[in-house]
Amino acid sequence: MSETADIIVIGGGIAGISAAAELATDARVLVLEAETQMGYHSTGRSAAIYIRNYGNAVLRAINALSEPTLAHPEGISDHSLLSPRGELLMASEDEMPLLEAYAAGATGLDHLTGAECTEIVPILRPERIAGALYEGSAQSIDVDRMLQGYARLLKARGGRIVTGARAASITRDGGVWQIDVGGTRYAAPIVINAAGAWADEVAALAGVQRVGLQALRRSAALLSLGPEHDVESWPLFATVSETWYAKPDAGKLMVSPADEDPVDPHDAWVDDMVLAEGLDRYEQAVTVPVTRVDHSWAGLRTFAPDRTPVVGFAPDADGFFWLAGQGGYGVQTAPALAQTAAALIAGRAAMLPPATLDALAPNRFFTN
Ligand SMILES: Cc1cc2nc3c(=O)[nH]c(=O)nc-3n(C[C@H](O)[C@H](O)[C@H](O)COP(=O)(O)OP(=O)(O)OC[C@H]3O[C@@H](n4cnc5c(N)ncnc54)[C@H](O)[C@@H]3O)c2cc1C
Repeated sequence: MSETADIIVIGGGIAGISAAAELATDARVLVLEAETQMGYHSTGRSAAIYIRNYGNAVLRAINALSEPTLAHPEGISDHSLLSPRGELLMASEDEMPLLEAYAAGATGLDHLTGAECTEIVPILRPERIAGALYEGSAQSIDVDRMLQGYARLLKARGGRIVTGARAASITRDGGVWQIDVGGTRYAAPIVINAAGAWADEVAALAGVQRVGLQALRRSAALLSLGPEHDVESWPLFATVSETWYAKPDAGKLMVSPADEDPVDPHDAWVDDMVLAEGLDRYEQAVTVPVTRVDHSWAGLRTFAPDRTPVVGFAPDADGFFWLAGQGGYGVQTAPALAQTAAALIAGRAAMLPPATLDALAPNRFFTN
């Protein structure tokens, strides 16, 4: 059995589904997802936050371009995917240079003292805070509504999502990519590699040079603090050196050790020791001890060597498009990267400036 399309997207996370929805306005698009549900890997395990100033200068430009779609998700949802949260970034004396580096080139930040931090998050120990930045525009993202909304938009535009469909072999024959999925064959002249942590493996399957992606595991735990703490009114709060962060989550507190352990792509799970050490770092900064973990999980954040996403046609294979390496920013950058992928594939002008497109292009990893 064989099915054809104009474009096949490999990977049904937020990157693949959003790009597929954008492309489906003028192409027949098919998404192949290995798992039995969309968003099972990184997309379903994120902290679900939009932080305008998170990441390097390239990412900051992409974050800004995503915000209008997140706030006014026309066709994706009938109301904003964002809700107020804020972010409090704290520094010890030693970390002050990092705080200044974060503020450089950033917008919409207020400087706070340790005492001011405790007015916002009363459980913080002010003596540990030499300075802090408050980013009022940081917002929570409804990731599930976003993913489902993009999927609906894709289907309304005639696109299709096949789950339980792991691309097992990818070959190019007569200008068309042929993808085998356990006996079923799918064919299209253009393939988008949105396979998250597996994107380098998918490239290798297709005979395309890897770009050097590395999956880094990040864990999280959900804690109950008790009814005397109005957790929902707090912002996300973190150390600027990312030794831990905490974010309110439906009345509980999600605390992450902000771990970045290199791992091979897999269905990630928590390393208990890494989680315990991270919770210990968090506990030293607050007045409420950790007595019980309600739930814990881990996911993969996959980075290119320069920690900038990889978006564009592969220089070494016709019709092979990279949409990978979104690291810890893949949800908040998805609208802008999906629009960029659609523009580049359709040959239209992208909304990002040429220098930003060059910074994303996969050919930066090729020496000849
Ligand atoms: C703990 C944690 C917190 C995070 N917090 C945030 C945050 O607050 N804000 C933010 O913007 N980002 C955050 N991120 C990052 C964000 O989750 C990722 O960047 C984003 O989800 C990546 O999306 P993706 O679609 O590329 O990957 P994925 O969601 O992993 O999707 C890739 C898909 O490809 C499929 N696939 C792989 N190989 C094949 C194959 N051969 N055939 C078919 N399908 C295949 C996989 O099954 C998978 O479903 C966080 C990540 C973690 C782990």
